[in-house]
Parts: sequence; structure tokens; C-alpha cells
Amino acid sequence: LEGTSTNGSGNNRDRLSELAARHLVQPWPVAGQIGDEARGLIRSGDGVYVQDEHGNRLIDGPAGMWCVNVGHRCKELADVLYDQAMALSYNSPWYTMSAPSAELAERLGKLAPGDLSHVFFTTGGSSAVESALRFMQFYNNVRGRPDKKLILSRGGAYHGSTYLSASLNGRPRDRDWMDGADHLVVKLTCPNPYRRPEGVSREAFTDWLVAEFEATIEEHGADRIGAFVGEPVMASGGVIIPPDDYLPRIAALCRKHDILYVSDEVVTAFGRLGHVFASKDVFGAQPDIITFAKGVTSGYFPLGGMMVSSRLFEELRRSNHPDAMYAHGLTYSSHPIGCAVAMKNLDLLEDGLLDHVREIAPYFLSQLKTLEELPLVGEVRGIGLMACVECVADHDSHNPLRLDTEVGQRIDAHCQDLGLLVRPLINMCVMSPPLTITRAQIDEMVRILREGITRTMADLRREGLW
Ligand code: PMP
Repeated sequence: LEGTSTNGSGNNRDRLSELAARHLVQPWPVAGQIGDEARGLIRSGDGVYVQDEHGNRLIDGPAGMWCVNVGHRCKELADVLYDQAMALSYNSPWYTMSAPSAELAERLGKLAPGDLSHVFFTTGGSSAVESALRFMQFYNNVRGRPDKKLILSRGGAYHGSTYLSASLNGRPRDRDWMDGADHLVVKLTCPNPYRRPEGVSREAFTDWLVAEFEATIEEHGADRIGAFVGEPVMASGGVIIPPDDYLPRIAALCRKHDILYVSDEVVTAFGRLGHVFASKDVFGAQPDIITFAKGVTSGYFPLGGMMVSSRLFEELRRSNHPDAMYAHGLTYSSHPIGCAVAMKNLDLLEDGLLDHVREIAPYFLSQLKTLEELPLVGEVRGIGLMACVECVADHDSHNPLRLDTEVGQRIDAHCQDLGLLVRPLINMCVMSPPLTITRAQIDEMVRILREGITRTMADLRREGLW
């Protein structure tokens, strides 16, 4: 039983590392280490903290993977999880349904913007995006528009790790060694105000992006473009917050050209920006489909889904092919445990946590912004409780650091010594803590991050890398 113990100290830790290195393939491994890698062991979590293999307490800066929204060791969610497993642990969504799935569907249908009154549940974010894209294909086939299948995505995007969702990814290195359905995807410019195309001012940037969108429709033809997929705030691409009226203008163009606007809210939904869904409430843009995952259960159970406009279902019902089948579903669609956990999670969000995020977010961002004083930091940007510290070689010209500087990893290593987990993204550090974080914990987080960056600057100078 030693190997299954949560006590990860000493010999047991070594034993677990050995087991992992011999048998466990971790996500996103590199060829030289595949199936031969043990990552840092996390023993337990409580609130905004986790405990590492040595018993050190660390602030969970990225809330796992932007998902532990209500924090670790939440008894309310754990109780619901247990109770639902004892009441009904599983039912086949092929020919039955459960009470939690129907109740959650109704609640989400009321919370989602506009006429997004229906939900299809999946197992996570990739399967949500995949479901949305397959739905778009089905929708256009049934409407007699089989050529309307191209998908518009953007540089810097991350939409998942299944074949079609991953084909949309646009971050550096994501697609270097992996195939994708490239013939189905058209990439647009990343709406990153900090790294605009040469010669485009901040003021003119939205017009430029909208003009590119229009030119792309012109080039490929609206009758060949099925969907635009975009995160309201690009998360894994480095917390890219688009210029103010960008999303409403893109949504309007989509509507005009009968292109489905799929808003990928896998990160931004369920409280990260202080709202259940952010597309309309924060950005004023009405999507046709919203994909979600992560925060819907605060990571206590794998669940995702897509909210779909009832208008689309109406069109399908009125089509010439009422018998056409959307041949798509997952064994774990509408999982009763996931749906029950999500109901309780929503209670917690609506019972003060959303208000807390809206109240504390300005403090979170203003404190992180003070890190811009450090010469290695080019920009600190954020919205709600998600932020990114971007490091640069040259503060004034925004020159990026060489990829192999691995500055994010260096900062993370120092911060872990000091009591903070960071999500390193090449030259960026992402901060998206549990939504329960307090002012004092924000102070602690920023103090450690400042020290971690300061130590990294000293290392880089010493090694002649900066
Ligand atoms: N979309 C976005 C915006 C994401 O950030 C992620 C995951 N980081 C996904 C989709 C994929 O979700 P999952 O890993 O749950 O499949």
C-alpha cells in the first residue's frame, strides 16, 4: 500500500517517482523523456494552498489549470460528490437521464446569454470544442450547405488536444510536430495589443483586426466559412485581452455572414472574470455557442459542455432532413456526479464568490502591476482573476527573450522554493489563483513573485543570458 499513500515524503516519494518514470506518460512530454519523467509530487490541497512532496505549503498560483475556482478541500463539493455516487454513480445518457443533468441544464440555460438555452455535456474542454465543431459541420450539412465548413481561429489560441480542436491551436510549438486538419482552418492575427503588427497603432488596432476578418471572408467566401472560434481572453496564449470593441464587431460580422460564433469559455466561465459567462456580460458579444469546462466543477469532477442557441435547433427542426442524426455523444455525457457537483459549485459562485471576484480583482491586478518596475518584466496584464507577467529581453522595444532562456521555468523554480506555484509559459508566468483568494494572500503571492523574478534576473545576468 506504500505506493498509494498520500504521504509523499522520503523513500515513498522516490518510489513514486520511479513508478511514474517507468509507467506514467504525462501530458505534453518531449520525445527524449516520454514515459521517463516524474513531475513534482503534490500531496494535498487546502483553500488556495497545496502541499508539496516535502510538506512545503505553496500558493496554487494557477489554481491547478485555471480550474480549482472554489479552492481545494471544499467540503460542500466533496459531500455532494460522495452523496451522488452513493445515490446514482452513473446512468447511460443514450437511453436514460438523471435528475442532476436535467436540473443543471435548466439552470445553465437560464444563466447563459441570449437564447443559449440548451446544453450538451462533455468530459472537458477539448471534447466541448470538438462537439461544437462537429455540430457546426452537422448543422451545415443538414441545411444543405456542405461546403460551409472552414473554421476561423487565431494565432496564440488554445482550444484543446483532440484532432479538430487541436487543429485550431496557434501558440508557438503546439503544432511543430503534430498533424492537424489544416485544410479546414484559417488562422487570423492574434488580437494582442502588446504585440501588434508592425506600424499599427493601439488606436487603429481594432479596425485593423476587423478589416483582416472582412478580407478573410472576402477571400474564402462566406459560403465556405462555418465558424469562428475564439476565447474571449486567450488564456494559455498568455492572457491576451482583446481591444474593447473587437469581440462585438467580430460577432456582428459572424451574424451578418451566417458564420457561427463559438466563444470558447473553458477558462473564462464560472467566475474567473466575476460572472458565470463572460462573453456577453464582460465583452458585450452574443455567441451562437459557448464551450465551457474546468471551473464548472472547480476541477472536482471532469465535466465540460457547450451551450447552444435555440435558434440553431429551430433551423434544424425546420430543415429538409428532420431524420438526420448528430451522431456524436460520449459515454460520460451528462454524468450525474459531474452535474451534481456543478450544481453545488454554482451555488457557491452565486452565494458570494462572484461578488468577491469583482470586488478583489482590481486589487489583484494593481498589486501584480507593480512588478512592471522590474526590468525583466515587459508587461503585466489581466482581467478578473487571471493575469500574466510577460518577461522581455528589452523593456522598451518589447523584444522577446530567446525561447531557450526558459525564463518562466526559472521563475517558477525560485517561486516554488519561496512558497508559490507559477504556471510557466515560455517567457510568461500566468496567475489565476482560486477565486477565494484574500488580500493578504494576494500580497504574499506578489511578494514571492517579485523575489522569484529578482533572483531570476540575477541568474540570467550571471550566465550572460540577459
Ligand atoms: N479551451 C481552452 C480555452 C482551454 O484553455 C483549454 C485547456 N487549457 C481547453 C479548451 C481544453 O480543455 P481540456 O484540457 O479540459 O480538454
